[in-house]
Amino acid sequence: MKAEIISIGTELLLGEITDTNASYIASQLPLLGIDLLWVTQVGDNLGRMREILERAWDRSDLVLTTGGLGPTEDDLTREAIAEMLGEELSVDPEIERALRDFFSSRGYKMPESNIKQATLIPSAQAIPNPRGTAPGWWVERQGKILIAMPGPPSEMQRMWEKEVSLRLRQRLGHQIILSRTIKTFGFAEAAVDEMVSPLLSSANPTLAVYSKPDGIHLRLTAKAESKEEAEEMIAQREEKIRSLLGESIWGSDEETLEAVVGTLLTEKGLTLATMESCTGGLLASMITDVPGSSAYFKGGLVAYSNEVKVSYGVDAALLARHGAISPEVAGAMAEVARLRLGTDIGVGITGVAGPTEVEGKPIGTAHIAIDDGKEKRLAYGIYPPLRHEVKRRAALHALFELRKALLSLK
Ligand code: AMP
Ligand code: MG
Repeated sequence: MKAEIISIGTELLLGEITDTNASYIASQLPLLGIDLLWVTQVGDNLGRMREILERAWDRSDLVLTTGGLGPTEDDLTREAIAEMLGEELSVDPEIERALRDFFSSRGYKMPESNIKQATLIPSAQAIPNPRGTAPGWWVERQGKILIAMPGPPSEMQRMWEKEVSLRLRQRLGHQIILSRTIKTFGFAEAAVDEMVSPLLSSANPTLAVYSKPDGIHLRLTAKAESKEEAEEMIAQREEKIRSLLGESIWGSDEETLEAVVGTLLTEKGLTLATMESCTGGLLASMITDVPGSSAYFKGGLVAYSNEVKVSYGVDAALLARHGAISPEVAGAMAEVARLRLGTDIGVGITGVAGPTEVEGKPIGTAHIAIDDGKEKRLAYGIYPPLRHEVKRRAALHALFELRKALLSLK
């Protein structure tokens, strides 16, 4: 079934509100196995609404609209649908009674402008809306369905959950679509693409590769008759992907690197401290984005200048010998953080955020060290040239290395 969403309201086109209705519906359609092919926004203008509705009715099996069902003159969704289908609007006595009751039960007299919310066309049935005054419309003709829902998100979502999705499910049988995201760090998008290339041509489950701020994501999507069957299809394909991408995979679905690291630290009962130079505290900030991080994170030192690094305890001779942007200094920073803050593990990061080189080392270079008191693990990366990108990627890389270190600790 080909579906299309039309979000109606001039506020959307002015950028005054965000189209959360479309995102909500888009997130719900896969659960019903419905393919969404188009999303359109249109202002409160009869001619343009009619044009968009005609195109949608022509090319889609299911058209879902939100907005424009209010009582005011600029709410024109009903009028546009009636025009598009060449049908007459008339007041439905039952809806009118319900509407008048709605107002009188709250002690008001119904403003006469609200009467348009009681209108229907012959092909439309009203959909109840206990949270507001505008019923939705369920329109069916020539095997196609058009559903008009109110704009306010709480009204629309209730109508979706309690009415629309149930009726659609009955109509469609039970095909469902399930997705799983697998998250990697360390490889470039093209490299990941190449490694999984034999799987990219599969039609079910499908596999797509995306570059995201926290690394490269792979999204598996399966269509099946039941949730269990879709889960099994995804599990099998995921196993294959894990065998191809190995250690670069750090998480899935809604997981973040900082949360994954937090869970490992908690499980192992270990504490953490950081000492950052080029990331300016970003790593500590990310670590503390996780609720409950105070249980394992003792604190972070930001040692931006060499003098501050030395004052915290980094050996001045070591700094002079290797320069601040070096694995040796990253290692010393990790050790100093661990010893000064009295934790099990210390992380050090030093690098060049740009926009100019430092010590002749290229922009985007970062050295990372993880010190657990027995061993110092070192890592190194060169990231894209923009300053904030370098900081973010270096902090993520440190978390990624920390995860690996934690997994290898008994
Ligand atoms: P309407 O039904 O067009 O009178 O819309 C009423 C209110 O619902 C608007 O003022 C917005 O606050 C909200 N609304 C309408 N359309 C959307 C949308 N697509 N996404 C989020 N909120 C919306
Ligand atoms: Mg509106």
